[in-house]
Amino acid sequence: MTEPPSFDPAVGLCSLCEHARIVRSGRGSSFWLCEQAAEDPSLRKYPALPRTTCHAFVRGVSEPPCEGMGTG
Ligand code: SF4
Repeated sequence: MTEPPSFDPAVGLCSLCEHARIVRSGRGSSFWLCEQAAEDPSLRKYPALPRTTCHAFVRGVSEPPCEGMGTG
């Protein structure tokens, strides 16, 4: 069962990023891993959070459809 991704202010951009993965330790802790760091040496594998800016951010969550679309 998967939860829909949602913005987490404690995590910042990574919570919505396509490159982010949550890694859970055996002790129940969780870490945010940046998969893009393997290709971009300017990124950290485990970014300092909250991440407020990132040049490599790619939105992994589609925007909800806008309400009140124009009727002409
Ligand atoms: S690319 Fe940036 S925003 Fe995306 S997971 Fe990595 S550090 Fe976070």
